[in-house]
Amino acid sequence: MAASHIFPRHCHAQVPVATAGDGCFLIDRNGKRYFDGSGGAAVSCLGHSNARVTDAIKAQLDQLAFAHTGFFTSDPAEALADLLIAHAPGDLDRVYLVSGGSEATEAAIKLARQYHVERGEPGRRHLIARRQSYHGNTLGALAAGGNAWRREQFAPLLVDMHHIAPCYEYAERAEDETLEAYGQRTANELEETIQRLGPDSVMAFIAEPVVGATLGAVPAAPGYFKRIREICDRHGILLILDEVMCGMGRTGHLFACDADGVAPDILCIAKGLGAGYQPIGAMLASRAIYDTIARGSGFFQHGHTYVGHPVAAAAGLAVVRELLENDLVDRVQRMGQTTMAEGLNRHFGQHAHVGDIRGRGFFWGIELVADRETKTPFDPALGVAGKLKRAAMDEGLICYPMAGTRDGKHGDHVLLAPPFIATEDELEAAFGALSRALERVLADVG
Ligand code: PMP
Repeated sequence: MAASHIFPRHCHAQVPVATAGDGCFLIDRNGKRYFDGSGGAAVSCLGHSNARVTDAIKAQLDQLAFAHTGFFTSDPAEALADLLIAHAPGDLDRVYLVSGGSEATEAAIKLARQYHVERGEPGRRHLIARRQSYHGNTLGALAAGGNAWRREQFAPLLVDMHHIAPCYEYAERAEDETLEAYGQRTANELEETIQRLGPDSVMAFIAEPVVGATLGAVPAAPGYFKRIREICDRHGILLILDEVMCGMGRTGHLFACDADGVAPDILCIAKGLGAGYQPIGAMLASRAIYDTIARGSGFFQHGHTYVGHPVAAAAGLAVVRELLENDLVDRVQRMGQTTMAEGLNRHFGQHAHVGDIRGRGFFWGIELVADRETKTPFDPALGVAGKLKRAAMDEGLICYPMAGTRDGKHGDHVLLAPPFIATEDELEAAFGALSRALERVLADVG
């Protein structure tokens, strides 16, 4: 085989060439089929061969491929914004279409800053986020994220942000503390950090309603986000919710924050919005934020060439229509509580090296531990997560394993985020494949 000129993610890994998609399966050049149990990285919510979406893309290409938003808006962009706003929580009222998740969070951070400047509070410059979080790989989004490993070598380039504890009860709740009390305690860290920085210097707080890649499908404790909302409101601080991974129906709600009964000032979505058919993300902003800028400079000082791309918007529109008209979000909620929750607990609930199984809808994490009693993670040098990814692929399963943190506070985990069209039989087969892969890895690491 000729040497590849692709700059890969892992320079020395041999990865198969994907040549086709069929429902929930990806097919490689040798004809091997892989059940897409993580939708890539929680992207492919409609599977890989949705004709409505591909037809919408083709029709849009024939009609209009591109019109720069400096000059025009377009029908698919307008229709997608209308549909998102019709279902969005709170008073979210304006949509800014971008090409992916990092662009959405980056835009959110800049919008929050510009909002305060235009309100006459230019002193508000601090963004507070949470440890072990991920909000994207561009420098602003990376600075916001609290994932030590991703930040490490770029630290000198990252502007100063502030990080409080994640709401991660498996690892951090005290034994004698109720879940609710734990949630309030962690939320109150926001209040303490605001007081330390000075309330008039803080512009926004950003968090994922259900933490995806960095923790493995961890929802917040009940009442946590209500408390966060109260704290933000009391100090005039914007709440940005990053639903890039957990949004668009993935948790059994179109917007994940609906389950917490809280609406943000700015909401970011991406992955499931394009479902992998086109690169698209969106930032939704409240009426109050939009009006402040409209009455002020009248110009959001941001932008990329491909914002509001008509073909990406046509894909996003077809995806959201498909989700809504086929009741796929309800299906995810129903099957999340049955097939996913019960199946995962049946296969892994008693496993000596499974510390925790958590999630919502079609978004689940399994935390792997060396010792279940003490919750001790595997030694990171064993590379359990990476080995599990390869063993699962051998078994014809795509899952999304993540290595634990080096401080030993958080172990390896595997994320499952299957397409919303997956059948019970397909999911059951996937649990079996994951189980076999896990046993192979455990035998390998001794
Ligand atoms: N925020 C969250 C919560 C994410 O999970 C991701 C991607 N894993 C991003 C932002 C960045 O999205 P993208 O990779 O599309 O830039």
